[in-house]
Amino acid sequence: MTGSPDITGRDALAYAASRLVRHSAESGPAPSLAGAGPDARLVLMAGEVVILRTAPAEAGTALLGPDEAKRAGEPAVEIFLGRAEGRPVFAGTVSEEAASLFPAPDYRALDLRALAAEGAVAREEQGLIATAKSLLAWHARHGFCANCGSPTAITAGGFRRECASCGLHHFPRTDPVAIMLVRRGDACLLGRGPHFKPGMYSCLAGFIEPGETVEDAVRRETCEETGVAVGAVAYHASQPWPFPASLMIGCVAEGLTDAVRIDPDELEDARWFTRSEVMRMIAGNHPEGLTVPPATAIAHLLLRDWVDGVVASAPCP
Ligand SMILES: [Zn+2]
Repeated sequence: MTGSPDITGRDALAYAASRLVRHSAESGPAPSLAGAGPDARLVLMAGEVVILRTAPAEAGTALLGPDEAKRAGEPAVEIFLGRAEGRPVFAGTVSEEAASLFPAPDYRALDLRALAAEGAVAREEQGLIATAKSLLAWHARHGFCANCGSPTAITAGGFRRECASCGLHHFPRTDPVAIMLVRRGDACLLGRGPHFKPGMYSCLAGFIEPGETVEDAVRRETCEETGVAVGAVAYHASQPWPFPASLMIGCVAEGLTDAVRIDPDELEDARWFTRSEVMRMIAGNHPEGLTVPPATAIAHLLLRDWVDGVVASAPCP
């Protein structure tokens, strides 16, 4: 199945919809996969790829049954995500090589970028898979206590790790990123990093630092990367970005100055684009072939909503 170009707006955002009722929202202990019945489902991550069962003419699924998941052996790490449509849902890490145990045409293995770009699973399953990937990536790197160095153990189904030596609880991290549409009059400020595909421009973005508000991160990153001063900032939308565990916080910001002076360590180019130019970039008919990110990305939503005039007026700074 390929992506659905007819879906736009917030419905098109990758990883933003989830049918998962998280275990963290439940009371009581987490069940184990070994004790679960045949209605249990398991998301298998083999390195950076997720195993999908394909279905002719419709979206595939990463929710494998216990019997079919068994061919990969015992997961190296097993966590309990919660429930989807009443079924208990687990996630597990298997070796990269285990992907070959799930051959075409009944199965395929995709990284999460391709999964979103292709619309390879139902939209409501993308968020669930993103949760699995981000949590498993965190467990893979947090086997030891950051306080005392002792091994830590999975608790709360995988939504926590605990140190038996010093008693500290460790919680999975989410890394907040501010991504901003900076506007001034009839123009908006877009940049391109050196790794972007040719001709593509996007909203500026950067990690929010400890002790910093979202608004101040928008102002700091915009000033650092382009020299443009920013006043008022308003929240618009957010998107989980499981590479490995970011949360993109989309904002609309008011640019106060025109001159652009890029930081060459961060950007290859940045400039102001008029509304009509951005409309052509979204439509794919810009005369210079310039483009914006696809509808699955929050940068696209920010641009489209700005073009359509549905972004909020920012309050005073
Ligand atoms: Zn410890």
